[in-house]
Amino acid sequence: MYELTVKTNFAAAHSLRNYSGECASLHGHTWVVEVSVVGRELDDAGMLIDFKKLKQLIAKTIEELDHSYINEILYFNSDSKYSNPTAENLARYIYENLKRELKSVEQGIRVSKVRLWESPNASVTYWEENKSL
Ligand SMILES: [Zn+2]
Repeated sequence: MYELTVKTNFAAAHSLRNYSGECASLHGHTWVVEVSVVGRELDDAGMLIDFKKLKQLIAKTIEELDHSYINEILYFNSDSKYSNPTAENLARYIYENLKRELKSVEQGIRVSKVRLWESPNASVTYWEENKSL
């Protein structure tokens, strides 16, 4: 198996609901995203996927988030615990969107995990269990 990891970042604000603490107030982060994809087979050029192509897919996935107030995005705009704009839910949101993007253009490759850094010292990793290619 091969695993490729690409790193990027975006700036966005959020405020947490149902939480008493500093993060309940509106504030921003420069979120760092690390995306990993896995697959078994290389293409004719000896690549799992061109880094450039993967970066473009990630850019498309996070475009909506960059310089946004995350709470205003529909996905994060309800009272469900899965809609609170926490790093956990944001990592899953990125994972799910990228999974959809990747599926539409590539066969035999899947997103293995999304790690989202909220600060240089705190990250969340989201992945799905038992998924085959
Ligand atoms: Zn925060």
